[in-house]
Amino acid sequence: MRDFSQDHRWLSINTATVRKSRGQEVPLPEILDACARRGIRAVSPWRDQVAATGLAEVSRQVKAHGLALSGYCRGGMFTATDDGGLKAADDDNRRALDEARELDATCLVLVVGALPGALAGKAAHKNIALSRQQVHDGIGRLLEHSRAAGMPLAIEPLHPMYAADRACINTMEHALDVCDALDPLPRSGADPEGPPQAAALGVAVDVYHVWWDPKLREQIERAGRERLLAFHVCDWLTPTRDLLNDRGMMGDGVIDIPRIRGWVEEQGFEGYSEVEIFSAQDWWQREMGEVLDTCIARHRSSV
Ligand code: ZN
Repeated sequence: MRDFSQDHRWLSINTATVRKSRGQEVPLPEILDACARRGIRAVSPWRDQVAATGLAEVSRQVKAHGLALSGYCRGGMFTATDDGGLKAADDDNRRALDEARELDATCLVLVVGALPGALAGKAAHKNIALSRQQVHDGIGRLLEHSRAAGMPLAIEPLHPMYAADRACINTMEHALDVCDALDPLPRSGADPEGPPQAAALGVAVDVYHVWWDPKLREQIERAGRERLLAFHVCDWLTPTRDLLNDRGMMGDGVIDIPRIRGWVEEQGFEGYSEVEIFSAQDWWQREMGEVLDTCIARHRSSV
């Protein structure tokens, strides 16, 4: 397992972590500057933040700073009530894929969607099996473009508390079942003695979503190096005051992050540890510099 205690070369900042400073929205260029000034080598931006600045300008700044993208947030939301809705989702995901490619991201992260309408407050139906089928089919369609673009897709299983409104894939096991069905490994013709092939479809392991799962270790082993595309960290606070925007700083909650990182690295994962904290009442109320400095310190002490 890599030693993170001496430096922060494997730290990535998911830019949602500092999307607000003292409660005020921070433009993405300021976030990129602040990260680069601190020697942070990687980020994972959100599409809305990129759109607000403009893709070309963000791409230019990312390259000027020499920043890597540990992922791009996000594609997904594959479910809909009719063909027009499914087509719109497909089109939007194609655009997300193109943006990820322009920014040279490691992967496009997928939050797959759940019951259509639920996120806006009124679910159109109660058929979660139908939603799961639409997600499966939608990923299958996007995968053709992903392969052509050389941009891997990372399914992010979300905690079951989001099964109604954000993602109906809630465990690593379910995510990997979808991976195995749509992107079987090893590929035919591959040299079994050769180096592992990068999968076109894999998972983003976010400790906030999966830390509780009794099958976590076995599913990380099942994923293997080929399917472990991203590793997201924050902490689970007790009590959690908000289902979406009360994530904790690493070390402030109950997740044994180093243990999970050990399992992921045992499989050969060598990527960034991406800090992703949504915190309306705490970290988004603080000054961005303080938050980034704390991320660096906790990356060294608690990840
Ligand atoms: Zn995440």
